[in-house]
Amino acid sequence: MQKILIVEDEEAIANLVKMNLEAEGYHCTCAYDGKRGADYIEREVFDLILLDIMLPEIDGYELLEYIKPMGTPVIFLTAKGALNDRIKGLKRGADDYIAKPFQVGELIARVEALLRRCGKVNQKLVYADVEIDVVSRTVSRAGAPVELTNKEFDLLVELIQNKNVALYRERLYEKVWNEPYMGDTRTLDSHIQRLRRKLDWDRYIKTVFRIGYRLEDGE
Ligand code: CA
Repeated sequence: MQKILIVEDEEAIANLVKMNLEAEGYHCTCAYDGKRGADYIEREVFDLILLDIMLPEIDGYELLEYIKPMGTPVIFLTAKGALNDRIKGLKRGADDYIAKPFQVGELIARVEALLRRCGKVNQKLVYADVEIDVVSRTVSRAGAPVELTNKEFDLLVELIQNKNVALYRERLYEKVWNEPYMGDTRTLDSHIQRLRRKLDWDRYIKTVFRIGYRLEDGE
């Protein structure tokens, strides 16, 4: 069973997340302040850590410094709209972030995606008639190779790992380009267009009005 540590001082949020993740079969431990979080991290090995930023005793950034050398994947829980927190978190090596308040379903999808990403080395993703080798970074469609740029490839993986989730433009952009999203939609939109064309995926990559994009189920 995979073990998740939740470091979050809002106990109601921590407990809600714990309850939902445990319903999905994860084993969860809650720490309600940074000090207790550090104690758990010292004593136990976790598969993933959900880390709030503003915490009593020791804040999330400090804890992250401590976690990074261990290689445990981290998802930051940030306050809604706190752009600086997201940038700082990503720069310092958080693997992902989710803004509060969040939908529990989205959090679970992120947790699963990150665990998949970190879990296996020889990983092949298959979606509809497209096969992706994340190690050699090659893509084929119905057996024929498809040439993608690096950013197109990263975008494709991000979409597949979050299938059926409506992804905000800003989040997609920041994940794939690793820099703050300044509101210019053209770069992302043109990459999406090219992916749709190269994979013939108009029916799978949906535009979500005022949000961004969603990859429809390919079954
Ligand atoms: Ca907090």
